Amino acid sequence: MIKIASPALDDDEIRAVAEVLKSGMLAQGAKVEEFERAFASYTGTRYAMAVNSGTAALHVALLASGIGEGDEVITTPFSFISTANSILFCRAKPVFADIDQATFNIDPRLVREKITPRTKAILPVHLYGQPCNMEKIAGICREHNLALIEDACQAHGAEYGGRKAGSFGAGCFSFYPTKNMTTGEGGMITTNDEAIAGRARMLRSHGQSERYLHEMLGYNYRMTDIAAAMGICQLARLGEATQKRIENAAFLSGEIGSIKGLVPPFVAPDVKHVFHQFTIRVTEDYGMTRDELQQKLREKGVGSGIHYPLPIHKQPLYRELGYADRLPVAEGAAREVLSLPVHPGLKEEDLRTIVRALQVDQR
Ligand SMILES: *Cc1c(COP(=O)(O)O)cnc(C)c1O
Repeated sequence: MIKIASPALDDDEIRAVAEVLKSGMLAQGAKVEEFERAFASYTGTRYAMAVNSGTAALHVALLASGIGEGDEVITTPFSFISTANSILFCRAKPVFADIDQATFNIDPRLVREKITPRTKAILPVHLYGQPCNMEKIAGICREHNLALIEDACQAHGAEYGGRKAGSFGAGCFSFYPTKNMTTGEGGMITTNDEAIAGRARMLRSHGQSERYLHEMLGYNYRMTDIAAAMGICQLARLGEATQKRIENAAFLSGEIGSIKGLVPPFVAPDVKHVFHQFTIRVTEDYGMTRDELQQKLREKGVGSGIHYPLPIHKQPLYRELGYADRLPVAEGAAREVLSLPVHPGLKEEDLRTIVRALQVDQR
């Protein structure tokens, strides 16, 4: 089976983790600091704060940006549930703006329509590794004095206008095993804002400003040195791994472009798309439904994924909360998208197998 994701760990990680274990310094120590410095430098931000998941990064970034009870945060309905749930964690209200048909990212024009006097922040998601239109989104934030929190959990190393994702506002990254780089579980917050950085550092460790002095309600979201040691190795190889993803995507797009009814990913001008996912649309013209195609691929040994089958506003939790939005572009995408393997571990033979599996038995 050609897997949809496969973490690339080698002897470097094994050695680095073993060293930490032998040192006896396991949690939030020198390795975490080293990883933070390297990640800030990579992203081009002044500060980076490690936490133990991408979800924790989002929660902390929102709180550190001053989001609280009754505030509205505009975000996308087409993402992993974590994006909107992190807003709920702050007792704030997620407000969904529909997505752009071509990129699957939040549509800046529709964001504007959702602004009310209660709006405090915008939380765009750089979905599948393609940055949102940050010129427009950052412009709206400046104009309306809103906080900007970027969900860059799928966008390590992605760029908009030559600037890295996560450097426009408070950036939130995940290092879950399926992401472009991993620490097992883990996350990072990036920012140029000293006040946000200071609050984030306290929030991840019980609101502590110095040992056993607690300024605010915080959490235990600390990263281990074991995870950080892996992260340092993974970050060092991220450039190479990303290049491989981009090459794999170019090959697949070239081949899929000539298959009737399949729409390869659209890459916007001015962006570096890092292909966390390679997500196509399966349209009516293909001759079988998206779900039938997924089954066929499985039979031919090709793994695939649906990101995401149900938009967030349609999830049982959100219906229960009273959400009844109609967001037709996100709802349509949920019926048509299919993610194919694109990870750097794929061999040329695997890429050909994927294309063949898409071509054969078309009705
Ligand atoms: C993975 C992911 C998250 C959550 O990250 P975890 O590390 O799993 O908590 C949030 N948002 C998006 C878009 C993600 O892909």
